Amino acid sequence: MTDYMKRFRLDGRTALVTGGARGIGLAACEALAEAGARVLLTDRDGKSAEASAETLRAKGHDVVAEPLEVTDPEAVEAFASRHPEIGVLVNNAGIARSNIPAEKMTDDEWRSVLDVNLNGLFWCCRSFGKRMLERKAGSIVNLGSMSGFIVNRPQEQAQYNASKAAVHQLTRSLAAEWAPRGVRVNAVAPTYIETEMTAYVYDDPTLMQHWIGGTPQNRMGRTDEIAAVILFLASDAASLMTGSIVLADGGYTCW
Ligand code: NDP
Repeated sequence: MTDYMKRFRLDGRTALVTGGARGIGLAACEALAEAGARVLLTDRDGKSAEASAETLRAKGHDVVAEPLEVTDPEAVEAFASRHPEIGVLVNNAGIARSNIPAEKMTDDEWRSVLDVNLNGLFWCCRSFGKRMLERKAGSIVNLGSMSGFIVNRPQEQAQYNASKAAVHQLTRSLAAEWAPRGVRVNAVAPTYIETEMTAYVYDDPTLMQHWIGGTPQNRMGRTDEIAAVILFLASDAASLMTGSIVLADGGYTCW
């Protein structure tokens, strides 16, 4: 097969994105829809999901909004049983709670991050992955982070870093289990991306200097630059890739 551009197309497939109302998730919805997928844009807040879906429909895309709280395994399972057709899953929902020294971290600050970033991601892989395995076809893209490889500085965020390292190893574990049954599982590991999650950096020039000064490309990333990697991994263009953790970090981990 040498019709390269066709391999990036997702016509006839249904894709689900968690945390899709804004940021990287919203850009991923747009990328997948542009490639021809029918997109289920989900977020824990159904109203913001609907508002974001409307902006994509206004551009002519096939996007439907539904609420989905990823930390609720019963809700995730119920959602998956209503949508057995999902062939692409982007586990994007995630939270960061930074500037918390480990020795001062409360139980809740630890648990809340692990609950969304790791547990929620696993509940989604389990419920949607099970149906993909039954159909012997599917592609899952998880949002890891360069924080799964390096320790960010100067902000302390041990729970976030640990959660993303766990996402990377979960990705590789599921990839190995499910490869013989037609389901690929990969992750993208971004650098600092311009979203609400990182917006606090604009109030702190010293912090900004740490971040971009540590990046060979000398800048933060944009959401569309991560969505492009998500689209690639989701599509048949990445048919030989499973268990890959793809860094998109402007070179941050080179230094
Ligand atoms: P944002 O904070 O901009 O958006 C995250 C979205 O996820 C929000 O709409 C949020 O909803 C939703 N969400 C949060 N918790 C849940 C939940 N329990 N169930 C369903 N939806 C939820 O994040 P980004 O776009 O910046 O990040 C997206 C992913 O990329 C995350 O996994 C993040 O860790 C990862 N990442 C981000 C980087 C960055 O620099 N921005 C770098 C590396 C990785 P609400 O508005 O209600 O909170």
